[in-house]
Amino acid sequence: MGDPKGFLKIGKKPAGNRPVHERIGDYSEVEQTLNSEDRMLQASRCMDCGIPFCHWGCPVDNLIPEWNDLFYRGDWKGACDRLHSTNNFPEFTGRICPAPCEHSCVLNIGEDPVTIRENEVAVVERAFAESYIKPVPPEIRTGKKVAVIGSGPAGMAAADQLNKAGHSVTLFEKDEKIGGLLRFGIPDFKLNKRTIDRRLEVMVAEGLEIRTGIEVGRDISGKEIIDQYDAVCLAIGALRPRDLTVDGRELDGIHFAMEYLTQQNRINDGAYVAYDKRITAKGRKVLVIGGGDTGSDCVGTAIRQGATCVTQIEILPKPPEKRADDNPWPYFAKTLKTTTSHEEGCERMWSLSTLRFIGMQHRVTHAEVEEIDFPGTRQQIETDLILLAMGFVHPEHEGLVSELGIALNTRKNVEVDNRMATNIDKVFATGDAANGASLVVTAIASGRKVAKKIDDFLLSFVF
Ligand SMILES: Cc1cc2nc3c(=O)[nH]c(=O)nc-3n(C[C@H](O)[C@H](O)[C@H](O)COP(=O)(O)OP(=O)(O)OC[C@H]3O[C@@H](n4cnc5c(N)ncnc54)[C@H](O)[C@@H]3O)c2cc1C
Ligand code: SF4
Repeated sequence: MGDPKGFLKIGKKPAGNRPVHERIGDYSEVEQTLNSEDRMLQASRCMDCGIPFCHWGCPVDNLIPEWNDLFYRGDWKGACDRLHSTNNFPEFTGRICPAPCEHSCVLNIGEDPVTIRENEVAVVERAFAESYIKPVPPEIRTGKKVAVIGSGPAGMAAADQLNKAGHSVTLFEKDEKIGGLLRFGIPDFKLNKRTIDRRLEVMVAEGLEIRTGIEVGRDISGKEIIDQYDAVCLAIGALRPRDLTVDGRELDGIHFAMEYLTQQNRINDGAYVAYDKRITAKGRKVLVIGGGDTGSDCVGTAIRQGATCVTQIEILPKPPEKRADDNPWPYFAKTLKTTTSHEEGCERMWSLSTLRFIGMQHRVTHAEVEEIDFPGTRQQIETDLILLAMGFVHPEHEGLVSELGIALNTRKNVEVDNRMATNIDKVFATGDAANGASLVVTAIASGRKVAKKIDDFLLSFVF
């Protein structure tokens, strides 16, 4: 540990965010960065605890005390290498991970955890700036071919690991660009898409083959892919959104969150979307239904588009400000989360169930909602744009999954055994497709895990 008393001398200093009035005028990243000196002092706050609960909290098992120590000592390259030994893409998690590690940090007993996520992104950004992250193609190729279908963080991590292990990997993606929800779901103000392109350049230089604009199961059959490759990995996400089938659902002005967010991300990337196809919040009273990350991203996007007002409603009760007695440290704190998008101007309401949508001349004008608690008061919220952000139920079954006859579990996700194998020979599954909608960090962890299982499977034929 660099400085055993660092946590006593140095207070927590987060980098903070750009001022609201400035950031709502663009889609650039909201979060700022600290200067290197202050950031290294923040790393010195890590106590190198005998039992690093942060490590237990991190789904990719990042060696948090180790790289914070290297970082504090100024060994940026060492810190970067240590970080990459467990996490393929610290530049993504360092930006958008909800940081369960910080919830488990021993200093969080005093609600002052080490700024682990921000330290992580500082290390990897310095590493890119100093060109420590360079293509390192595998020295030996195994002669085995793997198809990874779906290029979100799970597919990217699996492809990266398998390529590094010397297999010849092709990453198939139905969209025009790689990244899955990193690219088309998560807004640019949380994750600048250049970070995905920059990482892909390294992966391609290391020998990864990329094929975009190909939906496996439609443009090419799953059977053909199985015939052509030694192993196939399904990383197709859990993209079927949860719907709200109440009266008035067919009215104009009601959209799934992903239709809305995807369109704005494409526009930011320079795509042309015809005016009559645009879903815009400009001049509209926006109602976001669903209180999670996706809903919050809709709030931030609507504010940037010039919404008159934004309301977000959630069916669950308002979480407590402080941990409840049955939710102690070191578990993830189930407390009220106020995101940067909420700070930008949004009314939030809890414990509300949506009964019906009301409209005039085919366009929605109100949502009728009811309190779920007694006495269950009803009210109508005036709105002319409703965004449904109630989560995702399971992967899309039409196409690839049904063509191959992939078995599903009780939650209708892809069923896998302890080898992460599906019921179809040489077909494996990972990420949200197998686990249900989750987080970027759990998708990366799952991608790394399936890569190891596929590697074991392929090498069992070699030796
Ligand atoms: C709006 C939004 C905001 C979020 N914000 C956060 C956040 O801040 N932090 C966080 O940790 N997590 C966040 N998440 C969750 C996170 O993005 C997902 O858990 C993660 O991306 C799942 O990774 P994945 O690789 O399993 O699947 P996905 O990212 O969904 O990728 C699946 C890919 O497979 C492709 N595909 C599907 N079928 C086929 C086919 N037949 N052929 C070819 N390609 C196919 C899809 O086009 C897609 O690109 C957010 C999710 C959403 C929707
Ligand atoms: S990946 Fe997430 S949980 Fe793991 S160290 Fe980084 S911020 Fe923490």
